[in-house]
Amino acid sequence: MVHLPVKYSVAAGLAVLLAGCATPADSAEPTEPPPGVTQAPATTSTPSAAPSPSADSATTTAAAAAPDCSVVNCVAITYDDGPSPLTNQLLDAYIQRGAVATFFVHGPKVANDPATVLRAFDAGMEIGNHSSNHPNLTLQSADVVAQELSDTQQEVAKVTGQAPRLLRPPYGETSATVNQIAGQQGLSVINWTDGPADWENRDAATVVNLTLARVRPGAIILMHDTHQWTVDAAPAIIDGLRQQGYELVTVSQLIGNPQPGQFYTDGQAPA
Ligand SMILES: [Zn+2]
Repeated sequence: MVHLPVKYSVAAGLAVLLAGCATPADSAEPTEPPPGVTQAPATTSTPSAAPSPSADSATTTAAAAAPDCSVVNCVAITYDDGPSPLTNQLLDAYIQRGAVATFFVHGPKVANDPATVLRAFDAGMEIGNHSSNHPNLTLQSADVVAQELSDTQQEVAKVTGQAPRLLRPPYGETSATVNQIAGQQGLSVINWTDGPADWENRDAATVVNLTLARVRPGAIILMHDTHQWTVDAAPAIIDGLRQQGYELVTVSQLIGNPQPGQFYTDGQAPA
């Protein structure tokens, strides 16, 4: 398991804010990780057939049917900022293919569309917390951060019966204080490894190609289920990742047993 101490700059987050959209919840995430973080395309990703004989304490999986990501190449696709009017189309693609993803949602949007969130949950998708109003949490008081998180925890729990275990901080902006408050609410803090930058690459073919080029074993991929081109890209992404030998899993399945208050940008990869 790799815990990269990646911290995106406040300046980058502000640049996104200033370049951003009409409402905070529609704003894009910050741009890519620093150039050195981007990995070469995974061209040889055939899963190892040989199970590792070594006991690995991180291999506890969240669901009985989940693959063992210490043995096979796993990837966790994540979708932020929903649910949106496009989310059901996205769920169609995943459900038809028996695939799963993780959805980082906003509490008020959950309250407006509980049926979509319940459909996702019932189909095995993981539901994570993306705050209620999409602020940069590092710029808020501790009380505001706690409220932003707890309101969405409660809205999701009302629908699914289960409060999220994962927080995706808006703009990827977090801090030791934010991580601590998240931990107090049972939340791990999850950023991402890489992704197709779907807020600026606005066509499905590009989103597909960049996702398939940037994936690597153990990756957490950032996307948004608020963009039509991202939703349109999903079938080819699922099929393409599987052709490369990947298993699609939720973030909790990828990490194994995410710990409250801990910050992650990657899951485990086979040795
Ligand atoms: Zn967001």
